[in-house]
This record gives sequence, C-alpha cells and structure tokens, in this order.
Amino acid sequence: MSILASRLSAIKPSPTIAVTTKANELRAAGQDVIGLGAGEPDFDTPDTIKAAAKAAMDRGETKYTPVAGTMALRKAIVEKFKADNGLTYTPEQITVGCGGKQVLYNAIMATVEPGDEVIIPAPYWVSYPDITLLAGGTPVVVACPEETGFKLRAEDLEAAITPKTKWVILNSPNNPTGAAYTADELKALTDVLMRHPHVWVMSDDMYEHLVYDGFVFATPAQVEPGLFDRTLTCNGVSKAYSMTGWRVGYAGGPIELIKAINKIQSQSSTHTSSISQAAALEALTGPQDCIPERNAVFKQRRDMVVGLLNACPGISCRTPEGAFYVYPSCAGVIGKTAPDGRKIETDGDFVTALLELQNVACVQGEAFGLSPYFRISYATSNENLEKACARIKALCESLT
Ligand code: PLP
Repeated sequence: MSILASRLSAIKPSPTIAVTTKANELRAAGQDVIGLGAGEPDFDTPDTIKAAAKAAMDRGETKYTPVAGTMALRKAIVEKFKADNGLTYTPEQITVGCGGKQVLYNAIMATVEPGDEVIIPAPYWVSYPDITLLAGGTPVVVACPEETGFKLRAEDLEAAITPKTKWVILNSPNNPTGAAYTADELKALTDVLMRHPHVWVMSDDMYEHLVYDGFVFATPAQVEPGLFDRTLTCNGVSKAYSMTGWRVGYAGGPIELIKAINKIQSQSSTHTSSISQAAALEALTGPQDCIPERNAVFKQRRDMVVGLLNACPGISCRTPEGAFYVYPSCAGVIGKTAPDGRKIETDGDFVTALLELQNVACVQGEAFGLSPYFRISYATSNENLEKACARIKALCESLT
C-alpha cells in the first residue's frame, strides 16, 4: 500500500516551476537556453531593505513573532491599505504569511469544504485550482477570452454562481495575462456579487504596483464598500520590491476569517521569518522610488516584446496593462509542421518545439486554463528578450 495520502492525487506540481527546472537542466547540459518562464523580477532587493534586515538581526530580532506577524509590520500594512486602497483595517484584521501563496492557501484551507465551489476566472494563476482541490473543494473555471481583454464579464460571473459558491478569486493585474481591471470593470462584477450575499471575494492584488501607461489600480472592497465584510484583500512584497525569496505576503479581512487563517498558520509555519518581516516593514514604510524606476524598465520591455511578437507569423499579442507577463496567442501556428516533421497541434506542442528547436523556455497556455496561448515573462534583460523573440520568429517562419 502506498504511503501517500489520496488528496495528493488531486493535484499536480506547479507547471511553471517544471518549465524552469527543464530549462535549468538543459542549460546545465551546455545548451544556450533563454528562460522566459520565471515569475519573479530580475532586479535585486533594494539595498535599504537588505540593510533593515541586517539591522533587525543585529538588534536580536531573531525570535518567534506573533503568528499573525509583528505588530509593527501589521500597523504598516494597515497604513498601506488606507493610503493606497482607501481600506480601513485594524491590525487584528491583518495576517502575514510566508508569501502571498501561503496566505491564499491558509484562507482556502480555513474555509473550503468538500462540495464548496470556488470560481476561478481563466487564465488563472496555476495555484488557485490546485489549492482548492487540496482543500476538497471544486474549482469552477470561467473562461475569459481575449475578446474581453482576458477579463471576467459580469454575465459570466452571474452564470457561474450557485448556492455552493464560497469564493470568487479575482486577480488584477493578472498572472499570466497582465490584464488589469479598471474600477468600472470591477464595479460591474461587484454589482453581481452584491446580489449574492453568500459569495466571498478573494482579491489577489500581488501585482498592484506593476501597472503602466498611467493605469489606476483598483480593488473590489474599495469600489464596493458593501463587500468589505466578505472580502479578503491579499497582497505581498514579492513582486513590487523584488523580494520573492524573503517569503512575505499579507491580507486584510474580517476578524473571524483572519483568526481562522492564523489558526491554520499556527499549526504549520507559525509565521514567516522575523528577519523577513523587518525587511517587509522597510519595504512598505521606506523609500518607494524603486517602484517607478523599475516600472519604467518593465514598460519599455513590455512594449518591445509585444512589438517583436506581433512581427512573428502566426503569433498575435495584446498589450497588457500590468504585471511582467504577456500572453500571446499562437492560434496561427496550430496545425503547422516544424522542419523536423513534428506537427504543432496544441500550445503545449508549440512551447515544446520552442524549447527543443530554438532553446527558448516559456509556459503553455493550457497550464493557465486558456489555450492556444503561451506565457512569456519579460522580467529578464533586453538582450535576452531580443534574442528570444528572434528565435520565436525563426521557429514561426520555419513552420509549413
Ligand atoms: N498571486 C499571484 C497572482 C502570483 O503570480 C504569485 C506568484 O507568482 C503569488 C500570488 C504568490 O506570491 P509569493 O511569492 O509572495 O508567494
């Protein structure tokens, strides 16, 4: 008999991590592979943040903290929510976890029971369905086609809600498409949710600060205060401050839910590292100039990549509002044949051909629930991006 629990069979390892692993293996074997799979900024953590972590160590902040996070950090998060989002929480309504991922995981574990449905607009971040499945819940995936900017439409949300719906997860700017909802677009969705008082909202605002061309970020509890008491507003420092390895995410929500999240956390990680919490405190309260500086670089890369991809025969790429991903369609190459005789039937075949024939690693749209597309992370150097796009073009031109 297997030692493994049956719940494991419901889930799969992260496909985005799998692509990065494969690219690393090929690189180790001497291949000149360009990885466009990474979900993290290529910039380093700002020096002021590192210095705050070192100072915390030197002060002896090396012991357990409260499960929900240090009071200083939670107060800084309260201020952040007030200043950036117009949301008024108390420190008791804030929880801090090991990355945004653990906060979402804790929230789903604390609330979702077998039979409960979680509405997940697709394309989605790969972890939402699997965490839901791990909790015994049922992901209800709602397609958001490119024609609607990869955004959920009010009528599709309405149609997906059943008496069993527990949560709808909204993610703006979105991983993998970079699509972001304006306040008006969110209001259309929150109007639907106001008619269904049993549905809770999990807003994953992880890419809040990564928006371009003057886009104004909005979050559901802000555009519809009537939803405040059933919204978990999730965020973190990983992407905005290039702190993916520090593992700090946080959320604000109703006290009963936050207490439940803390209860789960108290029996798993206890809390994220005390040093990382000191670093996150500096990220939120210290100088913010790294954000516009880095966004200027991301915007320039986004525009370059979109231009280069749209010059590839068979590929078409929408300009996204935020994050550091583009989600081009590869519909125009489906059904074609590569020089080695392989047929491109799916976006999975296309990214496999890209990796094997052109040494470019990206992730197939199938992993994010909407095909035929693929995700490119442009959080890498201009040189890499130019080279990678030239290789993508070479593959596309070689298909017959
Ligand atoms: N939410 C989204 C949409 C993400 O893309 C990610 C990371 O890729 C996370 C949450 C989790 O971030 P963290 O590294 O803080 O766990």
